Amino acid sequence: MAFGILRLPLFSLMALALMNPCTGAPDTRQRETLMRQEASRQTGGSVVLTPAELQVDAYLHKLKVKERASVPFPPSIHFFKARARIQKSPVFKLLQKMPKGGALHVHSTAMVSPEWLVRNVTYRPNCYICFTWGGSVRFLFSDGQPYPQWDCLYWQLLQSLRASMVDPAKFDKSLIQNLTLFTEDPESAYPSDDAVWARFEDAFRIISGLVTYAAVFMDYLYQSLEEFYADNVMYVEIRSGLTRTYELDGSIHDKIWSLKAYRDVSAKFSTKHPDFLGLRIILSTHRIQRVSTIKAAIKEAIEMQKNFPELIAGFDLVGREDDGRPLWYFREALSLPAELGVKLPYYFHAGETDLEGTDVDANLIDALLFNTSRIGHGYALPHHPLIKELSRKNGVAVEVCPISNQVLRLVSDFRHHPAAVLMTEGYPVVISSDDPTLFGNPGLSYDFYEAFVGIGGMRANLGTLKELAMNSIKYSSLSPHLKKKLMNMWQDKWKKFISNQKD
Ligand SMILES: [Zn+2]
Repeated sequence: MAFGILRLPLFSLMALALMNPCTGAPDTRQRETLMRQEASRQTGGSVVLTPAELQVDAYLHKLKVKERASVPFPPSIHFFKARARIQKSPVFKLLQKMPKGGALHVHSTAMVSPEWLVRNVTYRPNCYICFTWGGSVRFLFSDGQPYPQWDCLYWQLLQSLRASMVDPAKFDKSLIQNLTLFTEDPESAYPSDDAVWARFEDAFRIISGLVTYAAVFMDYLYQSLEEFYADNVMYVEIRSGLTRTYELDGSIHDKIWSLKAYRDVSAKFSTKHPDFLGLRIILSTHRIQRVSTIKAAIKEAIEMQKNFPELIAGFDLVGREDDGRPLWYFREALSLPAELGVKLPYYFHAGETDLEGTDVDANLIDALLFNTSRIGHGYALPHHPLIKELSRKNGVAVEVCPISNQVLRLVSDFRHHPAAVLMTEGYPVVISSDDPTLFGNPGLSYDFYEAFVGIGGMRANLGTLKELAMNSIKYSSLSPHLKKKLMNMWQDKWKKFISNQKD
């Protein structure tokens, strides 16, 4: 009570100071100053736009005003229901053309459109399919009839099965459905957090049989880069557990084979597209594992980083935070690089939860204690004012993946996404798409749309977009030299983008 009494007069004094002493009404100029000052704090608030950019900004604002009046307002509904509307949106079309810099939070098994996987990969010879007891499917390439597995007794050659179908197009559509979470009625399909996470983790297992076949893997990576590039993304950082690839006879390649494949595909793609810088890998292990497994993974990551310094960015733990073990549980393993006197940058998924005050919620504190370079998701960060302040001081950007957060049921209306707080304060944020195959959000434009129109609200402007794109370079894992190179490449594209909008 005492505090309440003390605070009231203080507040009143502040309010009085803002009033015009003659009329008693708030001072208009002061009001404008406050609005300007507040706007200057937001993401992009200190970006000075050129006259040409100001013209594009004014045009964009007009488009946004129209968009806000649309019913239903796309960011207020589930992305799966909004996607067709978003595709027609002039704001979205402009975002597609915008050079967006890098995608810093994507997972290696979920980067291409499910349509490509079905139309390209499942039509290759020697592809087998099995329907599991749990109503799911598995794929496997093999030069002979595959052996039964615990959940999969009978494998059929996909080519023969498809040929026996009355309506092969309908069959292919059903295969696509298995590879993505995208559906017209997400609320019925995924009625609970557990239901959506179970489906999410199963989809990774389904896709894995297709893309870890060695002959597919390189094409898969190349196609992934194609899809990012087509959306004006110039660089990708991929979380990968380096799942080992297999051959038709069942033999398995080691992880170095996969690393070399990443390196070679990146080089081939950048040679063909000089305005694409390449990719880097954040090695990742599932957080459900034991401490000893994580220790071994960290040792392996240190070794790989030593041998492939240009390719390996660092290390992360992946999987559902609410179910998995918290970072503190792995403190012994995570302290290993420091003990050995080596630097292994961390890029922890942390705060992908709405369970305040739990062990999992403490992941944000621990990520910071382990000197994380960025925070994956950081959905709970606005609930940790001290951690937010400290991580901001340390230059730790948050990788916001709006559509992923909505599909995995943390938020339903993007206007309520907690990253809105981060953006109004100008906390360093980058936008990413997490798992495009599963969420139906290829590239970055759909996530930029939700961030720009929904999370950022009417105040987010061209300066916001410019800063978000530049953040993806500034907070990438690239060396200072390559950051500069990518920034120059991006600036060239940005100038062209602005002048094309003016025409
Ligand atoms: Zn992720």
